[in-house]
Amino acid sequence: MFYPEIFKLAIETAKNTPQDEVPVSAIVAIENKVISVATNNTFSTKKDWYHAEYITVCNAIDKLQTRYLNNASIYITLEPCIFCSTLLEKVRIGHIYFGAYNTDKPALTECLPKFGYLKNNVEIIGGIYERTCNNILVNFFTKMRNDE
Ligand SMILES: [Zn+2]
Repeated sequence: MFYPEIFKLAIETAKNTPQDEVPVSAIVAIENKVISVATNNTFSTKKDWYHAEYITVCNAIDKLQTRYLNNASIYITLEPCIFCSTLLEKVRIGHIYFGAYNTDKPALTECLPKFGYLKNNVEIIGGIYERTCNNILVNFFTKMRNDE
């Protein structure tokens, strides 16, 4: 079940992403209980795959001491990349709620389904608070260009 207050928390968290990181956040929750929260964190770790989804899923698995998250939901401000989409399939996440569509690289909504990767009965809903989520990204990239 979708909880708007958790998505709003994801939006607020994305706005507080560390400087220079692409502002994206992800939250794992079971029903209305937040398990883990993360933003992108590729610079300080020097790990380019330390996306919000990756970090929050790893933390949720450690915290819950479980292998699969089939009873959990992930709330993400941007459609996940191919790496994170595959990760979400691997951990059998139950529900994926995301904000902005990745129109350049629609990994979750186009690539994975095309090649039959989404085997389990995952619920996927995109475009949640889409304009707000898009604006966070547009503002970041506009500022980055202006700073150059
Ligand atoms: Zn990713």
